[in-house]
Amino acid sequence: MPDRTITAEQSQQLENTVHHLERELNNLYLQAGKSMLEAAEQTAKKANTLTEKMIAAKKLLNRVQNQTRCPVCQSFNPPINRYCGCCGTELLKERNTQ
Ligand SMILES: [Zn+2]
Repeated sequence: MPDRTITAEQSQQLENTVHHLERELNNLYLQAGKSMLEAAEQTAKKANTLTEKMIAAKKLLNRVQNQTRCPVCQSFNPPINRYCGCCGTELLKERNTQ
């Protein structure tokens, strides 16, 4: 029959082992959490950059689509232009119908 009596010293050792393992486990969780937060932060930064680029491109596209296209040289002109800023063709009857 194995002796199940535990000495005070053994008890202390077990306590230390449990304490040590708990600390190791906590460190592991901390590292994992930190890594995940860093990865999420990187993703958020990239997403913000892409969103800003997309908004800028959309604005530019919108501006181009609202402009009047010259029937002769195909240049895009602001809606207030009566004549093409590039070749001088009259634009009044050539509004972009988008
Ligand atoms: Zn033109």
